[in-house]
Amino acid sequence: MKPVAVYPGSFDPLTNGHIDILQRALPFFSVLHVIVADNADKNTLFSVEERVEMIKEATSREKNIVVTSFKGLVVDYAKKVKAHAIVRGLRAVSDFDYEFQLATMNRRLNADIETIFFATRGKYFYISSSAIKDIAKNGGDISSFVPAAVEQKLREKFKK
Ligand code: ADP
Repeated sequence: MKPVAVYPGSFDPLTNGHIDILQRALPFFSVLHVIVADNADKNTLFSVEERVEMIKEATSREKNIVVTSFKGLVVDYAKKVKAHAIVRGLRAVSDFDYEFQLATMNRRLNADIETIFFATRGKYFYISSSAIKDIAKNGGDISSFVPAAVEQKLREKFKK
């Protein structure tokens, strides 16, 4: 039996980089829970419901995916769904410090849960949610960086 994993993030919004990571992670797990952080302290462009909805739409053809939001600690959500792995993506060296710290802290919080990193594909390494928002806000073309559902939502958001 394959293990269960969680893929946590802000996903504000989901990009093709996130999709690539989740598609490549999927074959290794029986279920992959894509969990959107519901963190009131973080200023996000999209509500948690909008972020969950966009991920559901973009991954509707994938099997063995659960998309939902969570409050609190990733390790607590992972324990609740009996996950033994946390999936994270690594882009550049600049991600490493933060991700290493997070992985180490999560292991201190729950030693039964291992963080597994997937290195980004070369063609996605420069894609970040914040860059996408900036480009969309300034009227740039984001169609090759995000799924269609997300592009549409970004357009609507910045039309207002
Ligand atoms: P955070 O969870 O830190 O708020 P995100 O929601 O943007 O950040 O990303 C969730 C995870 O996906 C992180 O591990 C991040 O490094 C990874 N990720 C983000 N963009 C990409 C990308 N273009 N390629 C690979 N991994 C990525």
